[in-house]
Amino acid sequence: MNFWEKPLTELTHEEWEALCDGCGRCCLHKFQDEDTDEILYTDVACRLLDTSTCRCTDYANRKAKVADCLVISLENQEVFALLPSTCAYRLRYEGKSLDDWHPLISGSYESMVEEGISMRGEVVSENDVDMDGLEERIKFVE
Ligand code: SF4
Ligand code: SF4
Repeated sequence: MNFWEKPLTELTHEEWEALCDGCGRCCLHKFQDEDTDEILYTDVACRLLDTSTCRCTDYANRKAKVADCLVISLENQEVFALLPSTCAYRLRYEGKSLDDWHPLISGSYESMVEEGISMRGEVVSENDVDMDGLEERIKFVE
């Protein structure tokens, strides 16, 4: 059995970290619709996200530096509902399989770019925009 098919509770630390597809979606600023609970994603990324690679530039210290960073763990289960529906952690938490475009299955990050899942090059850093206009930058809804 491939490790990404095992329950989250059985993953090693390395396997857990490798599950992330690097889409960058969880690092976008977002709003929640009070009536529908839908998550409204903007194209504005956390200041620590490298928007060209979609990787956190200070992963080890992320929570200390960004208070609302979503640290994903089984000790913090309410976080899974806040993750994008495509997120590998959310999918596996809900007992679903990874999609074919996940790099662990396709063998390449390019499949994520082709599917439009990757936010690489699609978003801007909060350092480079006027955050007062954040609501005008909503790009997709889940
Ligand atoms: S949404 Fe999930 S899979 Fe995508 S970067 Fe965030 S943690 Fe990784
Ligand atoms: S601190 Fe890093 S992991 Fe957390 S939201 Fe920002 S870029 Fe993403």
